[in-house]
This record gives sequence, structure tokens and C-alpha cells, in this order.
Amino acid sequence: MGLMTGKQGVIFGVANDHSLAWHIAERLHREGAALAFAHLPGEKMERRVRMLAEPIGAKVIHPCDVTKDADVEAFFARVREAFDKIDFLVHAVAFASRDSLTNRFWQTGREDFRQAMDISAYSLIALCQKAFHLFNENASVLTLTYLGAVKFMPGYNVMGVCKAALESTVRYLAADLGDLRRVRVNAISAGPVRTLSSAGISGFDKVLTHYPTKSPLHRNITPEEVGNTGLYLCSDLSSGVTGEVHYLDAGYNIVGW
Ligand code: NAP
Repeated sequence: MGLMTGKQGVIFGVANDHSLAWHIAERLHREGAALAFAHLPGEKMERRVRMLAEPIGAKVIHPCDVTKDADVEAFFARVREAFDKIDFLVHAVAFASRDSLTNRFWQTGREDFRQAMDISAYSLIALCQKAFHLFNENASVLTLTYLGAVKFMPGYNVMGVCKAALESTVRYLAADLGDLRRVRVNAISAGPVRTLSSAGISGFDKVLTHYPTKSPLHRNITPEEVGNTGLYLCSDLSSGVTGEVHYLDAGYNIVGW
């Protein structure tokens, strides 16, 4: 019997086998969880997710653009057909336009700001609204954030502002969902890992080589560690933890020089 046997939940944010969401999903699956996957609408996106999710017996693979209320509603209606209740929801979704990641921060345009906030921060609220009646008591909501939320990180730009909003959203959702349904809401603040999204951050390679020079553990984190920490926060192992931003960064965030 695995730690997640009898548990079921949904995963947003698998683009390929490097995605942090995939490492969490794969770990949850190994512990016996049943999974539903969302992917951006489009044949190519569906194929990419299907290739990974079908071999691990995914119960649902369904399109969902998190900026579209109708998509989110249709996705959870499909989930409801497969699962009566859910025990976890993983939100590993973020986007900022190329302009807003390559120009200087002060040049961020209004529409680029709005879009980045909508996809990267508001979407967590939208997903919780539509999943609300599906949550089991003690269900766990997990999102992914980065140190750029609380410190200036070169090139992170508008995404830092989105992550600050996301971390605050975690606290406010934790208070409401804890009160109303005893649902927990937490975030992993992950150190840098090479993925499709991180490739869009200018100077990302420099960040990857910089972390081992400063972090107490003298290394970067591994994708497997994201899976393990995801398992902890999605499972009953963390039953007393909510509203938390949990650093998984080989200790980089504690260093002040
Ligand atoms: P990733 O594999 O590129 O995942 C990002 C996901 O967001 C993709 O599946 C992407 O779908 C999805 N997405 C974008 N716009 C969407 C929309 N409108 N509706 C639905 N899905 C949408 O990159 P990742 O690094 O694993 O990122 C996952 C999360 O971890 C993000 O929140 C990221 O900020 C966070 N994080 C990453 C790192 C890191 O170093 N990699 C560190 C800390 C935090 P498509 O690919 O199909 O567009």
C-alpha cells in the first residue's frame, strides 16, 4: 500500500517530462494516487501530455486554459465524472510574455502585466472556486513559486510580482478554505530547475551556476526532490501545514551575502 492509495487529484502544468508538475505527478502515482491531467487546448499539447499520462493510467486527460472560466468549469465537470471527490490539486502554471521577460521591468506593459497575473496568480483562485465542492475534507492544494517573489532576481521581472501575488493568495485561500472545508493550501518555493518555462528567463543559466556557489548544500535541487516535497505537501504527512511557502532550494534563501 502506498502513501496515496485511495487518493485522487488533479494536476495542472505538465508540458513535458521536465515539468515540475510531472515530477510531482509521477511521485504521487508511485504512491498509488489516481490522477486527472489538464493540458492547454490544442492537438500538440494534448499529445505531449497523453504520452506521459496514459502510461501511468490517468483517469482524465482534458483541455483547460486557466484564463477561461468555461474551460475551468468544463474541466472540473469532466473530473467529477471520474472522481466523486478529490484529495489534492497541483497548480504548476505560469506565463509571462517574451517582451516582459526580456525588456527591463520598468517597461512592463499593462496588457503583459494583466496576462501574467491572470495566468500565474489569479488562476489559483479560479481553480479553487470550481473545485470547491469536489474537495474532500483535509484535501491539499499545492502551487509552485520562486524566491523572485520576495527578492529582486535579475530577469525575473513581472513574474516576481506575480509570484508575490501568488504567495499572498496562498495565505488568503488557506484561511478561507481552511475555515469552510478544512482544505490546506501551500506553495513550494523551488530553486532553479531547467524546464520549458525557466528557459524563457534571461540569464537562467547563470542562476543555475550561481546557486551552488552560495547555497549551504553547495548544489542545485533535483527534479526528484520537487516530486518528494510535492508528495509531502499533497499527502497527510503534512496534515497540520497550511498557508506555508516551503523553500526547496538547498538553503539558498537563508544566505545574506
Ligand atoms: P513548464 O514545464 O513550462 O510548466 C509550465 C506550465 O504552465 C506548462 O504546462 C504550460 O502549458 C502551463 N500554462 C501556461 N499558460 C497556461 C494557461 N493559460 N492555461 C493552462 N496552463 C498554462 O515549467 P515549470 O518550470 O515546470 O513551471 C511550473 C511552475 O513552477 C511554474 O509556476 C513556475 O513558475 C514554477 N517554478 C519553476 C521553477 C524552475 O526553475 N523551473 C522554479 C520555481 C518555480 P504549455 O507548455 O502547454 O504552454
